Amino acid sequence: MRNKLVVGNWKMHGSRPANAELLAGILAARPYAADVAVCAPFPYLGETAVALAASGIGWGAQDCSAHEQGAYTGEVSAAMLAECGCRYAIVGHSERRAYHAESDSLVADKAAAALAHGVTPIVCVGETLAERDAGRTEEVVARQLAAAIDKLGERVAGIVVAYEPVWAIGTGRTATPAQAQQVHRALRAQLQAAAAGGGGVRILYGGSVKPDNAAELFGQPDIDGGLIGGASLKAVDFVAICRAAG
Ligand code: PEP
Repeated sequence: MRNKLVVGNWKMHGSRPANAELLAGILAARPYAADVAVCAPFPYLGETAVALAASGIGWGAQDCSAHEQGAYTGEVSAAMLAECGCRYAIVGHSERRAYHAESDSLVADKAAAALAHGVTPIVCVGETLAERDAGRTEEVVARQLAAAIDKLGERVAGIVVAYEPVWAIGTGRTATPAQAQQVHRALRAQLQAAAAGGGGVRILYGGSVKPDNAAELFGQPDIDGGLIGGASLKAVDFVAICRAAG
């Protein structure tokens, strides 16, 4: 049984007062039937941990180094995230793949580093509009996921996958529930074939999820919740999306 999971990706947004107000709104609307978490910018992880401690709501980071420790200026290790109480780390978000040239194999290494420290990696996959138009969607996401499967083997059962079509992120364009379900079904089959527990991996949909489209997306058989960008910055919207998950 895969309990639904809704994760807010704050990206590079927020401030101490804005975060406190947002978290207070999310906390006030408890309880949630779905699992709920927020992925905050690194400098805010400490205060997010304090605000959410013992609340049942998880928190996480938006990236994680593939390295254990050392001379990697600007990087943050999985061990540090674990010390901050992070339950999750997003890895391979399309913005990092595009703006920081992250390869499939680097993303797989980051996922392995997170898992080694008890932090669940949320491995993002997704095609560009050109790739979709060329009919290559399933080939592209299969290649991206295969890198994680090859690296992790049976440990892949411990990850979360987020299918985020690049053309739907922050654009207001959403994959139709049928389009998203088709890709999720293919990812599920790939995970099932790869590892004994692969069928239990939660696969989130991300890309302009809003309160008015969340329920239909989350109602698809292979969509286990969402990774939410813009709409996770407003408590009333994020709470409505969490409620739509169950
Ligand atoms: C994201 O960045 O992970 C995302 C899904 O963004 P948005 O919801 O704003 O499209």
